[in-house]
Amino acid sequence: MRITGKTRLCAVIGDPVEHSLSPTIQNAAFNYLGLDYVYVAFRVRLEDLEKAMLGMKVLGIYGMNVTMPHKIGVIKYLDELDESARNVGAVNTILNRDGHLIGYNTDGIGALKALKAIDRDLIKRKVVIIGAGGASRAISFTLAREVAKLTILNRTLKRAERLANEIRRVSGVDVKFGGFTYESLSRELEDADIVINATPIGMHPNEEETPIDKHLLRSDLIVFDLVYNPLETRLLREAREAGAKTIDGLEMLIYQGAASFEIWTGMKAPVEIMMESAREELARRGIRWR
Ligand code: NAP
Repeated sequence: MRITGKTRLCAVIGDPVEHSLSPTIQNAAFNYLGLDYVYVAFRVRLEDLEKAMLGMKVLGIYGMNVTMPHKIGVIKYLDELDESARNVGAVNTILNRDGHLIGYNTDGIGALKALKAIDRDLIKRKVVIIGAGGASRAISFTLAREVAKLTILNRTLKRAERLANEIRRVSGVDVKFGGFTYESLSRELEDADIVINATPIGMHPNEEETPIDKHLLRSDLIVFDLVYNPLETRLLREAREAGAKTIDGLEMLIYQGAASFEIWTGMKAPVEIMMESAREELARRGIRWR
């Protein structure tokens, strides 16, 4: 890597941030395409967010990823919100266009691309998404226009209803919603093609938990789990045992990172290179990836 006086700086801000894979995957992509960009991680405490955003402007930091706990708080420091972030109410990517900061949310497009990589006929599919939090909002707004049917199931019914209503208002698409119970899931999965876990169920330290009883899993389902710690959740293990196709949280992470890369560079992201660099980095950390 050659750093010059014109090198464009990109960064991720969050707290904690030191375990982020973003520097690895973004630098691998910049290097592969020979771009004069470099990517680093900055730990920014909650109370320092305003200063960090001022820093982005005055130092001319070109692109940023924003992770917990700043995804919502950062909005008030931006000059413009892309539609992807406006709908979701959270930002994970910022572009600095000559001091004008534009916020995006690439979780929806990331999930869409991860799905398109294994299914070319999304427009014919029925998708069931579990959860109605930040990740589900981003994915649901994006998928509503791309699939035949979408059902949102959430523990708090009101939240699923609110999200379904917002999607209908913004995109005119009818989305079904319901509470998240064994019965509702069992009923909705009967004719579903794709199911997405957008809750933290199964995440470390509750690795023995799963949002979907294994008797509901079938070989003709695509099972997509956003959880990436552990990389192989109980849900994904049982889905594979049932013969289903699976997409894990790391693939999602790479595809949403690839979408950020494309916003900053205007170039197609080398997804395979980004995947490979993530696998190598995880192996260095002693974490197995299938
Ligand atoms: P969030 O905004 O806090 O939303 C959490 C959602 O999960 C809510 O709908 C909540 O339901 C539901 N939930 C939480 N615990 C539950 C339980 N025990 N039983 C049933 N439902 C439960 O979180 P988020 O940002 O959407 O993230 C969700 C998951 O996706 C996290 O594991 C996160 O790490 C992962 N994620 C991964 C990526 C990636 O790139 N791989 C990107 C984004 C997020 P209520 O409304 O009833 O509280």
